[in-house]
Amino acid sequence: MHAAGQDGWDALDEIWREAFRQAWEATVTGNIGVGAVVSDDTGRIVAASRNRVTDREAPIGELAGTTLAHAEMNALARLPFRAPRTLVLTTTLQPCLQCAAAIRMGPIARVRVAGADPLWDGAGAFSHLNSWLGRRSDAPVEGPRRDEVGVFATLLARVGPGARDHVEEGLRARGEGPLLDLAARVRADGTVDKLRHGSVTAAFTALRPDLLDVVDQLRRSGT
Ligand SMILES: [Zn+2]
Repeated sequence: MHAAGQDGWDALDEIWREAFRQAWEATVTGNIGVGAVVSDDTGRIVAASRNRVTDREAPIGELAGTTLAHAEMNALARLPFRAPRTLVLTTTLQPCLQCAAAIRMGPIARVRVAGADPLWDGAGAFSHLNSWLGRRSDAPVEGPRRDEVGVFATLLARVGPGARDHVEEGLRARGEGPLLDLAARVRADGTVDKLRHGSVTAAFTALRPDLLDVVDQLRRSGT
């Protein structure tokens, strides 16, 4: 059923590649592995950043060492005040409530998501909350994707600092068990440590058979 090549990965555009590079850097530096890129309507990268929740310092204009230091927040923080609402935000993980609100407040016309984060399903819908928010629609979201690239994206966010019990429970209740099991295994058996000095593409390639297994498991369980 799956092609022998790496079509999903090979087909990623440069913006996606930068987002995944950022996510991988977040993973190997002990942060939550998420990367985000803002690009303009010509495809030029305007800002790129990553999760820095456990970092002690950040480049000027970004946050580190706080729950606010999510990838999307740091990428959005680099945009000038009142930039025109024409930009595209590409993120490796489905945005949380905080980032979804920042996206809604920011100059973002469209969102592209790789990995699912089922805890935040529906968290990007603000237009129905009141008439002011309803005066325009929320930015359309493309994704998350259900293939090995999407599973890889979510995995990167799960192999860092272990989830707290109630979060892990919430994710398992929403069908993420196979992915969490893989994350625990590659953390425990040294796979992540072995890959940490290589590129994100090398990491994807090494993990691909396991990712395809998870894709099949998720598909069979209907999540
Ligand atoms: Zn977030």
